[in-house]
Amino acid sequence: KSKETGRNAMSFFDPAMQTVVLERAALEAGLRKAIDGGQLVLHYQAQVVDGGRVTGAEVLVRWQHPQRGTVPPSEFIPLAEETGLILSLGNWVMETACTQLARWAQRADTSHLSIAVNVSAQQFREADFVATVCGIIERTGANPKRLKLELTESLLVDNVEDIIQKMYALKAKGVEFSLDDFGIGYSSLSYLKRLPLNQLKIDQSFVRDVLIDPNDASIAKTIVALAQSLGLGVIAEGVETDAQRDFLADAGCHAYQGYFFCRPLPLDGFEQFVQAFDPILDME
Ligand code: C2E
Ligand code: MG
Ligand code: MG
Ligand code: MG
Repeated sequence: KSKETGRNAMSFFDPAMQTVVLERAALEAGLRKAIDGGQLVLHYQAQVVDGGRVTGAEVLVRWQHPQRGTVPPSEFIPLAEETGLILSLGNWVMETACTQLARWAQRADTSHLSIAVNVSAQQFREADFVATVCGIIERTGANPKRLKLELTESLLVDNVEDIIQKMYALKAKGVEFSLDDFGIGYSSLSYLKRLPLNQLKIDQSFVRDVLIDPNDASIAKTIVALAQSLGLGVIAEGVETDAQRDFLADAGCHAYQGYFFCRPLPLDGFEQFVQAFDPILDME
């Protein structure tokens, strides 16, 4: 009988396809449980300046899956965005980061550290985003001046006025903004002067081949020059070698993040990294 049914009907019963659908549903249910049930963790990746001083960390979320182990964000952030779970996930990340900022503020060796939090466009577009962040800051006692939100150009596709207004409202509290993955998006450069940004973050795709691809080298230099002329800070992500670091420093970029300095680490590993690094520099 099944041979008489058409191609489409056949493919509906395609076991491979059914597996995909079931896996997705299971993944979504699993992610919901992970957010509510404490399976998410933050890893901290050092942001450093010339000389090696650690100025803070970017927090990067991971899913400690009971069976699959550590699942990277590339495997669940897109799903979280499609399902709306990004809102509760994002709130958890913000709350956890701000709680950590408040703890660091109590200790002399960590009170200078800032935290950069990735905020997805969908989160930022929520009408109550500003109120939510302000509520978390108040509840946790975090210093908003130590909180940096990493936004991407994908935010700028619609209702830029709304985005700008929210950014100013948070800036008034002291919150800072970095434009993540800069250079790979499609935003108009004219937005750059209208957004109350503090920093551009050079996308790692330009850093990777900066020594071998003259186009990437030009782009990296141009982003640094653009940041300087707009009065913005600039940080490079994905720095893996000292030669890349040296090229960027020569171009005028003096803040870095990447495996060359430190991988994203669980909290205790990051704190050990800070302690191992800073005392040496204090003696300079
Ligand atoms: P991103 O914000 O651009 O983060 C940088 C990514 O590059 C991280 O990947 C980091 O582990 C990786 N990385 C850092 N240094 C190096 C390096 O030297 N070489 C290479 N090859 N890679 C490096 P990760 O942790 O897998 O995160 C991927 C993306 O997932 C992030 O890109 C960000 O867009 C998203 N993401 C992570 N955490 C969150 C979160 O809490 N909320 C949201 N909305 N997105 C997040
Ligand atoms: Mg980021
Ligand atoms: Mg990035
Ligand atoms: Mg990136």
